[in-house]
Amino acid sequence: MFDSLSDRLTGVFDRLRGRGALGEQDVRDAMREVRIALLEADVALPVARSFIDAVTEKAVGHSVLKSVTPGQQVVKIVNDELIAMLGGEDAAPLDLDAKPPVVIMMVGLQGSGKTTTTAKLARMIREKHGKKALMASLDVNRPAAQEQLKVLGEQVDVSTLPIITGQQPVDIAKRAMESARLQAADVLLLDTAGRLHVDEALMAEMKAVASISKPHEVLLVVDSLTGQDAVNVAQNFSEEIDLTGVILTRMDGDARGGAALSMRAVTGKPIKFAGTGEKLDALEAFHPSRVANRILGMGDVVSLVERAAQVVEKEDADRMAERMMKGQFDMNDLRTQLRQMQNMGGLGMLAGMLPGMKKAKAAMQQSGMDDNVLVRMDAIIGSMTAKERANPALLNAKRKRRVAAGSGTQVQDINRLLKMHQEMGKAMKQIKKMGGLKGLGALFG
Ligand code: GDP
Repeated sequence: MFDSLSDRLTGVFDRLRGRGALGEQDVRDAMREVRIALLEADVALPVARSFIDAVTEKAVGHSVLKSVTPGQQVVKIVNDELIAMLGGEDAAPLDLDAKPPVVIMMVGLQGSGKTTTTAKLARMIREKHGKKALMASLDVNRPAAQEQLKVLGEQVDVSTLPIITGQQPVDIAKRAMESARLQAADVLLLDTAGRLHVDEALMAEMKAVASISKPHEVLLVVDSLTGQDAVNVAQNFSEEIDLTGVILTRMDGDARGGAALSMRAVTGKPIKFAGTGEKLDALEAFHPSRVANRILGMGDVVSLVERAAQVVEKEDADRMAERMMKGQFDMNDLRTQLRQMQNMGGLGMLAGMLPGMKKAKAAMQQSGMDDNVLVRMDAIIGSMTAKERANPALLNAKRKRRVAAGSGTQVQDINRLLKMHQEMGKAMKQIKKMGGLKGLGALFG
């Protein structure tokens, strides 16, 4: 996600940070590069322009340029503006507390991933919210669409409305409402028909279904890979129906991120979720602040810790989060993380989520290391004494040779591990300087 943009911006900001003093021209030069990076990421032109204007206006201010860490301050301003551009601090992903059945209407073009996303959302509602859901497909145009939802329903363990061949969308919606009431379902998900492009018949049908089902949420599913087209589709839909939010699919394959970055500013609609894979658990709440951190190469530690909390003991996760925030982070913590990485799907999965990991990963790949590296690093840490783990600075040449022999590795492997540990420490300090990890405390509060 956002890989190329992130690489570009990290480059620009590394140079800015590296300088002691900054003049107005330096900021303007950097912003020109940022503007190009945004346009290459397929961000809508007016959005890129107003972003750059906002950042420049704040950054060339006297107090920023005269501060002790001007580069750092500029990055903070960019971070804040990115969050604003993505929709502000944090949106409530779903409001499910209305009178049941809460109706969620899913709309979008064919092939956007709408049906899959409906099932993903139903799964999330059952698993995370502990609510009972019912799904119904109103897609009578695409052959086998209703059947597809039924199969997905079985996979996510959420019931679907029995299919009556020949029944029309509005009647199916009525039957679904009735059935949801009878089954005492908390939430009813209506998967409306997708078309190849926005057309009048589709819009009329959608409105008819909305007027009888009175949806609490109308969520538009769009494919992030279509970039600005996704934004245009959202604009068209929102002129016809009151969208409560957008779900961007295929974010896993979207290195540019233009749709995600422009959506809110152009349409005024919040992105509520991101689809991040074909599997039915690959749906994530969209948190602007976390996404901004990820784009700026500062990792997404909050999401990482959350994910970690699913696979490790809560105590470990608590301890890790606390130590990360304090900027203390020894070999024991690194080892805990390495094990979690193995459990969470290896390096590729985590690159970009952990501060400094991206650079560390690139360095490792250059030297021909792969996922086995995790196992090897674990072995290296296992060969250190408790004192060395708590204070890696103790590792002089002699100790390194001992650890290498003990773990069946080379001294250069030990050096790489220490370098990675340092990179991570540095990145975390940077986050701390920028005001810490909001939400991390609350997560475990
Ligand atoms: P619909 O026509 O809009 O209902 O689209 P489908 O739900 O049938 O999805 C079309 C294809 O996109 C399927 O193969 C899905 O597995 C795939 N898909 C949906 N969401 C995502 C996603 O977030 N990431 C990836 N990689 N694939 C997705």
